Amino acid sequence: MSTRKRIVLLGATGSIGSSTLKVLENHSDRLELVGIAARSNVDGLAEIADKFGVRQVGLFDPAAGARAAADPRFKSGTVFYHGVDEVASLATLPDADLVVVAVVGTAGLKPTLAAIEAKKTIALASKEILVLAGEFVTRAARENQVLILPLDSEHNAIFQCLQGAHHRDVQRIILTASGGSFLDRPIETMDRVTPAEALNHPNWSMGDKITIDSATMANKGLELIEARWLFDLRSDSIDVVIHRQSFVHSMVEFVDGSILAQLSPPSMTFAIQHTLLFPDRATGTHPSLDFSTAMRLDFQPPDTSKFPCLTLARQALEGNGILPAAFNAANEVAVEAFLDGRIGFMKIPVIIEKTLEVIPNREPSRLDDVTEADKEARGIASRWVAP
Ligand code: NDP
Ligand code: MG
Repeated sequence: MSTRKRIVLLGATGSIGSSTLKVLENHSDRLELVGIAARSNVDGLAEIADKFGVRQVGLFDPAAGARAAADPRFKSGTVFYHGVDEVASLATLPDADLVVVAVVGTAGLKPTLAAIEAKKTIALASKEILVLAGEFVTRAARENQVLILPLDSEHNAIFQCLQGAHHRDVQRIILTASGGSFLDRPIETMDRVTPAEALNHPNWSMGDKITIDSATMANKGLELIEARWLFDLRSDSIDVVIHRQSFVHSMVEFVDGSILAQLSPPSMTFAIQHTLLFPDRATGTHPSLDFSTAMRLDFQPPDTSKFPCLTLARQALEGNGILPAAFNAANEVAVEAFLDGRIGFMKIPVIIEKTLEVIPNREPSRLDDVTEADKEARGIASRWVAP
């Protein structure tokens, strides 16, 4: 019987997906890919299935699933999972140990909950899932005694700094932010930002949605809320600091004033490898930081007038109830509209703000309450977006 850790990778064709495949390739003695899924990229999945010998293939989009099932590039005997419900069963395969959740947005919520109930360890990149349904996901993980390993680099850094620490000794955590594409751009010119400019991130190469979220700093806002659930902290124990070099991935301050940080170059392979091999470590796929030449580590507070999404996320977090779900939904609607050229860049925070103002807040008692709030917020946000 195989002693390798068996991995299911949701979002295999994306940016995190391809970095995960790099780590898997480098550590094929310890890790085995047993299942993959994407939305509709049949070509990408066929290539990965062939290269890694994977026979369990999921497509969130059922029509693409039907195309894949008829595609001769997949070896005979390949089992296909069509649509989100079947992808959820892919995430519970008896021969899987760990599920990497790296799909954009909240499409991975159902498969993640299914995997938790099947007692699979989760490596979570899809922060939107915790913003939408953090209470339900973390409760399910506690009840099933399942570990959620943070794959987002900031949260992974905090997780590493917290090893061996007591929760009561944590004073605060400090999330670092690169500041995105417009850290130095004058505020008066922010209205004229084009999608191409916003997609050009100085440090990180990522999917389109998260690159825009970095440019507006909504990404750090989502990460605030993500941190609240992953580490069970209040909003006033989570700070954000701009660190343009992206070497320090985040920090933890303890009650005695000591601060621990995790450092590595801006490559997601560090966080991914950490989650896949945890609690073990092994040689990395990327060179580590080089101290033989001079380097700087700069820190500065974020400019919240230029990046209102950060303040809006904190308001949503503090307002609690369904406001974090509404923040996430309105942001997704606005980002899509910006990428399609239907709204200007600075309209993104305006649409989020209006949605948070209009939607009636309430305490969600069931998972359906947050998914309904998500739909309602999308409807509200769409009113300010030209069709
Ligand atoms: P990409 O856009 O590069 O990839 C997205 C993946 O998700 C693809 O496999 C895509 O499939 C699939 N996907 C897209 N939309 C849907 C949908 N509606 N339903 C199901 N699957 C879908 O994204 P990233 O890899 O950049 O990001 C993935 C997640 O990881 C996001 O939640 C992001 O916030 C988070 N993250 C990313 C980081 C990064 O460095 N990129 C860093 C930290 C977190 P297909 O190819 O078929 O469209
Ligand atoms: Mg991050």
